[in-house]
Amino acid sequence: MSNLDVRPSAERCGGEAATGPVRDLLTGRTVPLGESTVVRRLLPTLGRRMVGAWCFVDHYGPDDIADEPGMQVPPHPHMGLQTVSWLHEGEVLHRDSLGSLQTVRPRELGLMTSGRAISHSEESPRTHARLLHGAQLWVALPDAHRNTEPHFEHHPDLPRVTAAGQGLDATVILGTFAGATSPGTTYTPLMGADLTLRQGTRTAVPLEPDFEYAVLTMAGRTEVDGVPLDPGAMLYLGCGRRELPLRADTDASLLLLGGEPFAEELVMWWNFIGRSGEEITRAREDWETGTRFGEVHGYDGARLHAPELPALPLKPRGRVR
Ligand code: MN
Repeated sequence: MSNLDVRPSAERCGGEAATGPVRDLLTGRTVPLGESTVVRRLLPTLGRRMVGAWCFVDHYGPDDIADEPGMQVPPHPHMGLQTVSWLHEGEVLHRDSLGSLQTVRPRELGLMTSGRAISHSEESPRTHARLLHGAQLWVALPDAHRNTEPHFEHHPDLPRVTAAGQGLDATVILGTFAGATSPGTTYTPLMGADLTLRQGTRTAVPLEPDFEYAVLTMAGRTEVDGVPLDPGAMLYLGCGRRELPLRADTDASLLLLGGEPFAEELVMWWNFIGRSGEEITRAREDWETGTRFGEVHGYDGARLHAPELPALPLKPRGRVR
């Protein structure tokens, strides 16, 4: 997915991570994505740019797209990050400048590492399921790996953790959760897990005290550490926890995201992550002149143009603001 803002602001990522447990409700904002999709953007948001290396979280749907084109995100570039496509309903067809052509289905991991440069498109296939429901996430690459070779991974069989009798079923998206590890490549200590809770479940899941965490409710009525969380809302939890109490008043599903607080300052603008304004300016020029980011073949439509850079110089920022 892409940041399709026509006038994106420079995103400040960084500052101080919470040093202990907190319960900060992050109310997302609604952002149009192309002509036919609306997403709720949970990260970056006011007062919170990152959770570990997770630096972008969009939640969309469930939308009835039976008579609609669904998601149509034309070719656009990325730099300095990984994209994670995560679906509960529907399918997304991924094409990229490496020649990858992959349909990603519910609870399969589509993981694209942009490294120094890649471009891709994402679309609902012409023949698609009635419902589209998912999340699009970005992971910032650390300085030591941000110029790595671009590559795309598709992992259809992710490890699952089932707590028999507790009404909890987890799929490990990235990193390690409850002793199970995803095959997806990571470059910083982080994790992501999809938790399915049966109605009436009261349980607690294990956390790493050195990680900061956030939870996004994908569906159902839940309480996370005592805080009621509607679908599409995210709760930032801070650090210093060994477990997280969960309760489901209906059948529900949650995305748990965590990681070691990301210490490096970043410049995040449009679909690029760099370390200086000059780097971002160069990336924008390279995309507009058709160099470095390659070409996506087979997408029925024109590629995206980069928006104008803001008048003020882009400066590196920390992870809070
Ligand atoms: Mn994208």
